[in-house]
Amino acid sequence: MADAAMYHAKANGRNNAQFFTEQIDSVARERLQVENGLRLAIQQGELRLYYQPLVDLKTNVVVGMEALIRWEHPERGLLSPGSFVEIAEDTGLISIIGEWILGEACHQAKQWNDQGFALQVAINLSVRQFDSGNLHQTIVHALRQSGLPARQLKLEITESTMISNIEETSQLLERLRSLGIQIAIDDFGTGYSSLSYLKRFPIDTLKIDQSFVRDIGVDTDDEAIVTAIIAVAHSLKMGLVAEGIETERQLDFLRGLGCDIGQGYYFSKPLPPDAFTEFMKNRT
Ligand code: C2E
Ligand code: MG
Ligand code: MG
Ligand code: MG
Repeated sequence: MADAAMYHAKANGRNNAQFFTEQIDSVARERLQVENGLRLAIQQGELRLYYQPLVDLKTNVVVGMEALIRWEHPERGLLSPGSFVEIAEDTGLISIIGEWILGEACHQAKQWNDQGFALQVAINLSVRQFDSGNLHQTIVHALRQSGLPARQLKLEITESTMISNIEETSQLLERLRSLGIQIAIDDFGTGYSSLSYLKRFPIDTLKIDQSFVRDIGVDTDDEAIVTAIIAVAHSLKMGLVAEGIETERQLDFLRGLGCDIGQGYYFSKPLPPDAFTEFMKNRT
């Protein structure tokens, strides 16, 4: 897109500096628009949580789901987190949104409990939520309000969150874990953390990033990385989730290595709550 626009600018004989200033202005305008829209979206209830099943690869049983945020934009339709989560983080809006996500996801998981589907819900936390100082309280509050048992809540953090403030983050995670909440490292293998952090942090689960899963059967390097991650997790007695499983071939490979849990379009795309309930009913 940038290249094409650049080509255009040259073809039109315009000055590049001027062109870039305009580009930056339009990026800033776009961000401001998203920011303002997001403030309204929170008030007007346009945010949604979708849920993607997590499947035990040995038993084929759905053991949980990941909550993934969407924005039902009045004009632009259903927006994926890629188009607004970063802006929510940069502007600090993620604190309010994150609180809503925790409350909503715990409430929904409790409802499924009451319908006979005992599932663990995984929630993504952004690094900014750790800065806010009241994350512990927010989580405890969400559990109390919903009545969801702590062991049915899993928090997903990335390697960069983990190492951004090592002392404080590990202490907070310890406190949460002592309540029975589980901790997963998301997108594992894509960050810059060292393996020694796996010992220092209270981690229950590694989620193998989908970029490694994608090329199973295509790229032997990716297969080697997946194999190594599974070996590390197992020898440290951690659970494993493989993200982004789309094909039978990927599934067979992962199953063959003893990967515990799978997530991906092969099983289901993220679903709105009603469709998720239907999905569960159809499986039992
Ligand atoms: P993530 O936590 O790694 O979530 C997995 C992403 O992979 C989701 O994208 C999911 O829809 C997608 N996915 C799952 N299975 C497949 C598959 O088989 N193939 C492909 N190509 N993709 C698959 P989504 O929902 O667009 O979310 C993107 C990212 O946005 C998430 O990555 C997470 O980092 C962030 N995010 C999503 N929801 C939240 C939230 O509630 N809070 C925060 N802080 N971040 C969120
Ligand atoms: Mg995640
Ligand atoms: Mg991920
Ligand atoms: Mg991610």
